Amino acid sequence: MAAAEDAVAPRPRDEIVDVLIIGSGASGAAVAWGLVETRLKILCLEQGDWIKPTDFPSNGRDWEARRYADFDIHPNRRGRDADYPVNDDNSLMKVANFNAVGGGTILFTAHFPRMHPSDFRVRTLDGVADDWPIDYWTLERFFAENDRMMGVAGLAGDPAYPAHQPTMPPVPLGRSGTQYARALNKLGWHWWPSDIAVATTASDGRASCINLGHCTPGCAQGAKASVDITYWPQALRAGVELRTHCRVREITTNAHGMASGVIYYDAKGVERFQPAKVVILAPNGIGTPRLLLNSASTRFPNGLANSSGLVGKNLMLHPWPQVTGHVEAEMDGDRGPQTVLWSKEFYETDLARGFVRGYTLQFGRGTGPANEAITNLGTGRLPWGKEHHRVYRSLLYHRMLVGVACEDLPEEHNRVTLDPVLQDSHGIPAAKIDYTISENTRRMMEHGIARATDILTAAGARNIFASRTALNSPGHLLGTARMGTDPERSVVNEWGRCHDVKNLFIVDGSIWVTSGGVNPTSTIQALALYIADNIKQRLATLFD
Ligand SMILES: Cc1cc2nc3c(=O)[nH]c(=O)nc-3n(C[C@H](O)[C@H](O)[C@H](O)COP(=O)(O)OP(=O)(O)OC[C@H]3O[C@@H](n4cnc5c(N)ncnc54)[C@H](O)[C@@H]3O)c2cc1C
Ligand code: SF4
Repeated sequence: MAAAEDAVAPRPRDEIVDVLIIGSGASGAAVAWGLVETRLKILCLEQGDWIKPTDFPSNGRDWEARRYADFDIHPNRRGRDADYPVNDDNSLMKVANFNAVGGGTILFTAHFPRMHPSDFRVRTLDGVADDWPIDYWTLERFFAENDRMMGVAGLAGDPAYPAHQPTMPPVPLGRSGTQYARALNKLGWHWWPSDIAVATTASDGRASCINLGHCTPGCAQGAKASVDITYWPQALRAGVELRTHCRVREITTNAHGMASGVIYYDAKGVERFQPAKVVILAPNGIGTPRLLLNSASTRFPNGLANSSGLVGKNLMLHPWPQVTGHVEAEMDGDRGPQTVLWSKEFYETDLARGFVRGYTLQFGRGTGPANEAITNLGTGRLPWGKEHHRVYRSLLYHRMLVGVACEDLPEEHNRVTLDPVLQDSHGIPAAKIDYTISENTRRMMEHGIARATDILTAAGARNIFASRTALNSPGHLLGTARMGTDPERSVVNEWGRCHDVKNLFIVDGSIWVTSGGVNPTSTIQALALYIADNIKQRLATLFD
């Protein structure tokens, strides 16, 4: 058990701060900025470093190879110094993340849908899981504020959502988008240009998108809204301190059961104590339960803030089948932001389909030359010998791909625990995940694959191929410290404060009650801003 009662060991002790944030990713950046007007002394500890835009793979011709090396989406394969291993052997779905200033947003595709109003009320509407203790309307102004801070391209008026106004014009549909749109029109199904966190006009010192290349391994143009170039410059200018290469090992508590700070390893590997009046966790849906479980003490023997026993449980990962095909006409391939439109035709529950809840269909532009070659060699579609070049030419830049973003409902046996053997480079236990895809989700996946196949058929595609596993690592890490009003059935209350530890907050995806059928970052950040706002309203009680 870790020695988490107030630090007494002879380790260097830093000057006390008012607010200590762990993790500088999507939610850590948003909550830091959300609190700057308080003029509190705010410090963020981040285990990774700043990533220079000149280091992004998209600058070089080997960009596709580097996506399977130092910019791999899987920490175990990537193995950078900042990464910690995750034992995901007992899960078909793998963990994707990035550990640096900006967290997952360095590698994210910037698809930026919000949760739908129904996602917050699944118990009431469908009799499954739990309702959230807050609703879409509670978050609405924080969604808008986050859109302004990140810069979101899109088109107002999508009938699938309550009215909202993206801050910039939509990215062009391009050849791929137009082909999808025509197919969806033939079928009479909903589609709309996606909200996407990519600048289509220059703003806030960021250049606009020039369709330079694949956005996922980093945008050297600065058009993709990773938080190292959106929130962080503003938070730092306002006085927040961000300390890199600092890996937190555990959260300490005092004799009153309040968080007193953290023990961390600095850039030189020295173990230090950082005292704080308030601690905010933002290390994501795997990092948060890992730290809470590793902060067990005599007073909190099952891990910190875990009197409910729910820390680490209810992990949701968004199973995400992908259906591809090739068309006669040339598509956009790796040029331009990858996702251009979505369909919400199958988002809301229709029991006639054989499952509850639903999914978003997400339409991609294509892929790059190396990936096209490798995947087609894998399926046997691309022969060696004299036909090789002719067939390859008919495939490259002719690909269409539809992702099926399935809602994943919470189940306690899907969980994060501490691995008894595996450790990171500082000797901190690694996270272990156990995860299975439920019967409801499997039915949803098959329905989505069939509808995506209908769309590709309507688009005139051949070689239609469905993968149930290819995209099963979307990096959406949700649900492991859920929000609720009942301390026996949740870890944090309705404004992100741990029920058991009154000066400890969680702002990342672990507080989600259900997962929706959307990419989560817009909602994760809106929640972080909402929690910052609640902290601001209660400053007197938190710092008396
Ligand atoms: C390849 C990929 C594509 C994606 N595409 C999309 C997309 O199109 N749309 C979308 O909405 N979402 C997408 N996501 C998901 C998105 O990146 C995450 O939802 C988002 O980044 C989560 O934010 P977070 O604040 O919870 O955590 P993160 O952004 O993961 O940040 C956590 C930070 O905490 C740090 N940290 C962890 N533990 C410690 C510790 N012990 N000490 C110090 N620091 C620590 C990490 O280094 C990291 O920087 C994608 C993710 C990946 C990997
Ligand atoms: S397509 Fe646009 S947003 Fe994506 S990497 Fe290129 S310039 Fe950046």
